[in-house]
Amino acid sequence: MLWSQTLIPTMKDVPADAEVPSHQLMLRAGLIRQLMAGAYTYLPLGLRALKKAEQIVREEMDAAGGVEILMPALQPIDLFERTGRREAFGNVLMNFQVKRGDRSVHLALGPTHEEVVTDLVSRQISSYRQLPLTLYQIQTKFRNEERPRFGVLRTSEFLMKDAYSFHTSVESLSETYQRIYRAYCRIFARCGLKYLPVEAESGPIGGDASHEFMIPADNGEDFVVHCPQTGYAANLERAETGRKTPSLEPRGDAGPLQEVSTPDVGSIDAVCKLLKCEPQQMIKTLIYLVDGKPCAVMVRGDHEVNENKLRRALNAGSIELADTATILKVTGAPVGFAGPVGIQCPLVADHDVPLVKDAITGANKEDAHLTGVNIGRDYQLETTYDIRNAVAGDPSPRGEGTLELVHGIEVGHVFKLGTKYSVALDAVFDDEKDARQPIIMGCYGIGVNRIVAGLAETCHDANGLVWPLAVAPYSVILCPLQIDDSQTMSVTNTIYTQLQAQGVDVLLDDRDQRAGVKFKDADLIGIPLRVVIGGKGIKEGIVEVKWRWESEPRKIALPTAVPAIIDLMTARRTEEMSHVPE
Ligand code: ATP
Ligand code: MG
Repeated sequence: MLWSQTLIPTMKDVPADAEVPSHQLMLRAGLIRQLMAGAYTYLPLGLRALKKAEQIVREEMDAAGGVEILMPALQPIDLFERTGRREAFGNVLMNFQVKRGDRSVHLALGPTHEEVVTDLVSRQISSYRQLPLTLYQIQTKFRNEERPRFGVLRTSEFLMKDAYSFHTSVESLSETYQRIYRAYCRIFARCGLKYLPVEAESGPIGGDASHEFMIPADNGEDFVVHCPQTGYAANLERAETGRKTPSLEPRGDAGPLQEVSTPDVGSIDAVCKLLKCEPQQMIKTLIYLVDGKPCAVMVRGDHEVNENKLRRALNAGSIELADTATILKVTGAPVGFAGPVGIQCPLVADHDVPLVKDAITGANKEDAHLTGVNIGRDYQLETTYDIRNAVAGDPSPRGEGTLELVHGIEVGHVFKLGTKYSVALDAVFDDEKDARQPIIMGCYGIGVNRIVAGLAETCHDANGLVWPLAVAPYSVILCPLQIDDSQTMSVTNTIYTQLQAQGVDVLLDDRDQRAGVKFKDADLIGIPLRVVIGGKGIKEGIVEVKWRWESEPRKIALPTAVPAIIDLMTARRTEEMSHVPE
């Protein structure tokens, strides 16, 4: 491709509204342009990178036994009503009515395709002999995200690879799950991404039933809890800690229990301000309805209750914060003054709660708190639980090592669904004994745009993007120094056509620009191999070849230039593939 004949609108300045490096660089390198919030056009370079990522995803999904199909983005709303997801998606589900003759048809734009694919399978599959089956597609999804942001990392319209597997048994599902998990590792490694598979909250199948693939990145919107020593990694919703129940005996050095007046001060921050204390000195008491029964859930003032962990710890079906009437009933006070001393409901405490000496808590009385609250004397516990979000410095649940909190970008997700959709949409099969069973399902998503944006976010330097060969829009950029010099241009064109003939993606910067401008742009768009032709080199009979991440070019004699470039690329490809797991 000739630079002059394509569209690469590079920008010198950092666009004002782009907060993160990937967004800034994808705009500056001319990969994308915004149409409106959450909707972007992919320009030629961006599209080429996206297509390369898409092809890697496709190859690995095929190798893992997936079968590609293409389902419509337009879907009838009643499918979402049948699975209860019209309500669950809420405002995120884009839906609207259209007129057809005198009828009005209610449609949705697919945010994902569990409904459509399960409906399809319910009509086409009827026997155990037809299973297992893994269908996938690479297709545009629509989600009315509350806050589209960070360029193409979070948009209202994005390209997802979504796969769905169908099984007669949980064992068969687990086998496919493992196969796709491995395919994901290969996909992200082939794309040159640093990635971390993390345990995520699992649904009805339980156990090890869900993993998110995260790209560790400072600007990632998700938190990953990671133990470098043991390799434990989980998202914040899921992460456990290795903390244990401390002593629940009364302490010898407990200070006096006192009531203090805290008029209109019901939040942790406000109490801290008034009493000049730190949140760590407080015990936060929240009234929950656990399977409908009130329960006082306690964590240290600076910690957060994790409702998923709470639900698991108590083996509960439903967990929700209590209404004000219930709070008034069990504490005798309005919201904000609950505490363990004298409360009229069971106490459920996190492991760290009894460790707070002379704690400050609500007094179960309007406008009052207690100070000097201590375990064993002022409130009793039979045990404690791991029911708060993990924090940096917690012991790892694997018995050794310490947990760290890192930011991450979720690029993929694998999930053992179970029978939620097959039951709702009547996708059943006849087993060997001719008995009807709901099909057991798994689902597996990858954000293809996030592969590209994740690379931009994590692979760049001060001068611009640094693409891995596997996803680079072009592998080689040729920079002739004087386009009006016939010898320079004849050498350039020879190299250009020979590389193209050998199947190399090559971009020729044929613009009438100074060398400095061309080099800056080549660095900004991040093409892996730069070949400079002209100037002194032409007279010496050499070209200068440089990887994007190297500072010094190597000089290569003209006659061997093309084979040398091909050799360099082959070696680099081998190096990139050496990081790909089996
Ligand atoms: P998030 O938590 O980031 O909103 P999600 O968990 O809702 O994502 P899934 O439903 O698991 O997303 O979708 C599968 C994949 O699609 C995600 O792992 C992510 O890579 C990608 N994805 C999801 N939402 C968006 C979006 N708004 N823009 C771009 N990619 C997205
Ligand atoms: Mg997800």
